[in-house]
Amino acid sequence: MAAESAKAVAPSPKPAPATAKPSVSPSSLPSPTSASISPPPAPIAPVAGGGASSANTTISLTGNGTNYSKVDGPIDPGFKSKRQQAGTFQGIKVWGPLDAPGQLGIWGTEVCVDFDICIADGACIEACPVNVYEWLDTPGHPASEKKPFMIREKDCIFCMACENVCPPQCVKIFNKG
Ligand code: SF4
Ligand code: SF4
Repeated sequence: MAAESAKAVAPSPKPAPATAKPSVSPSSLPSPTSASISPPPAPIAPVAGGGASSANTTISLTGNGTNYSKVDGPIDPGFKSKRQQAGTFQGIKVWGPLDAPGQLGIWGTEVCVDFDICIADGACIEACPVNVYEWLDTPGHPASEKKPFMIREKDCIFCMACENVCPPQCVKIFNKG
């Protein structure tokens, strides 16, 4: 009898599963309706005055703007806050007003020339030690029919030579500093 009672051992509890699933409370689940009530992304507001689109416009040197006369220097050093960018020409910024071929505005970002003042004597091109400029034909402009185009503006070493030699003072250099 004693042996039989010894066999009557209480059944051992079931071992816990080795990998119990983590419990997830319903409150931590994403609500099925939360996505549908999220507001759509706001549209990107256009830049006032159409600046974004005009900044990407490739400007033309030809047109109907012939009713202009030569403008006297010097260049307005504060032109960037007064003028709007009219577009670009081979990657160089052009600041209006622009009415080609008689009115061409100010060209450049760091090496800036007021093309409506420039008389094309070439002093800036001769003075530049790193060959920033090359001639650009501008037929029909009242001050001169070619201009010093700052195509290698990024090479400028800010020596100021071109600004200092320009007779009508139509060059303005902005140091990146
Ligand atoms: S500041 Fe000097 S390097 Fe720059 S464009 Fe004028 S002459 Fe050339
Ligand atoms: S020195 Fe002045 S006027 Fe002469 S080409 Fe250069 S920007 Fe024009």
